[in-house]
Amino acid sequence: MSINACRSALAGAALILSSAVAAVADVPKVAVDIAPVQSLVARVMQGLGAPEQIVRQGASPHGYALRPSEARNLTEADAVFWIGPALEPWLERSIDTLAPDAVVVRLLDVPGTTVLEFRQGAQFVAHEDEGHDDDHEGHDHSGSDPHGWLDPENGKLWLNSVADELAKLDPDNADVYAANASAGKSEIDAAAAQIRQDLAPIANLRFVVFHDAYQYFEARFDLAALGAISAGDASDPGPARIEAVRGIIRDGRVDCVFSEPEFNQSFVETVIEGTEVKAAIIDPLGSQIAPGPEFYPALLRAVSDELVGCAK
Ligand SMILES: [Zn+2]
Repeated sequence: MSINACRSALAGAALILSSAVAAVADVPKVAVDIAPVQSLVARVMQGLGAPEQIVRQGASPHGYALRPSEARNLTEADAVFWIGPALEPWLERSIDTLAPDAVVVRLLDVPGTTVLEFRQGAQFVAHEDEGHDDDHEGHDHSGSDPHGWLDPENGKLWLNSVADELAKLDPDNADVYAANASAGKSEIDAAAAQIRQDLAPIANLRFVVFHDAYQYFEARFDLAALGAISAGDASDPGPARIEAVRGIIRDGRVDCVFSEPEFNQSFVETVIEGTEVKAAIIDPLGSQIAPGPEFYPALLRAVSDELVGCAK
C-alpha cells in the first residue's frame, strides 16, 4: 500500500473510531469489586462498555490493598457496584474518599437479596443439634455472610438493580440495559437448571471447605458442607478449629476437603495429613475463568463441576 493510501485508510479508521466513541460517550464509567460482580455488570453493559474491576483476579477480597491504578478506577467512576463491607471492610473508606459523587450500590443491601448469617464453629451442625457448641472456639463471627453471589437468585436480582441504576445515569440506553439484564437472567436460569441436574446424584456428598463461603450455593442447590477450616471472613484458623476439622475427618465421615487458590494450602495439608481423604480445589471467585459477561454463569457451573469431580 502506498503511503497516501495508507494515510487515507488510517483517517477512515479514525473517523469510524471517533463516531463509535461518540455513541458511547455518555455510557457511565463503572467500577466493581470482584469478578462475579464485574461479570453481572458487564452483562448489563454488553455492547456499550465494561466495568473496571478493583480486586484483581486470584486475590482474596477479605484483605486487600488497593494499587494506584485500582484507586484511579474509583476516582473516575460514575457508579460503583460492590458486595459491601461484610466482604471488603477495607474498601468502604476508599469509596467514600475516592468516589464521593459516584452512585454506590452495596449489592447485599439491594432489597430482596437473600442474606444468610455466618455459620458458627468449624463443624456445621444441623438445627436439631444446636446448643452443642463444644468445638466452638468462642469467637464471635456473627453478621452477614458476604458470599451472596453464589446464589443465582441473587445474581439475577442484582442484574435488575444494575440495569435500573445505569438507566438512571444513562436514560438513552435504558432499553439496552433492560434487555441485557433480561437475557442475563435467562442465562443464569439455564446454568442453574444444568447444575441442579448435575448435583442430584451427589446430594449426600460429605465435604469440608477451606473457608465458609459456600452456604448460599449449598442452600440453593440442597447440599450441605460438614464444616470449614476457616471462618467466613477467611481468618487463619486457630489450633482448636484445626483440631475440630481433623476430628470430623478422623471420624471417617468426609469424602473430600476443598482448598481454594486464593489461600495458603498448608491448613488443608494439615487437616488431611495421615488420612486417606481426597483433597480437591474449589474456587468461589473463578480465578481460572476468563472475565466478562459469560463469567458469572460459568463460575456457578465451575463450582458445581468441582463438587461433582470430587465425588467421582
Ligand atoms: Zn470469602
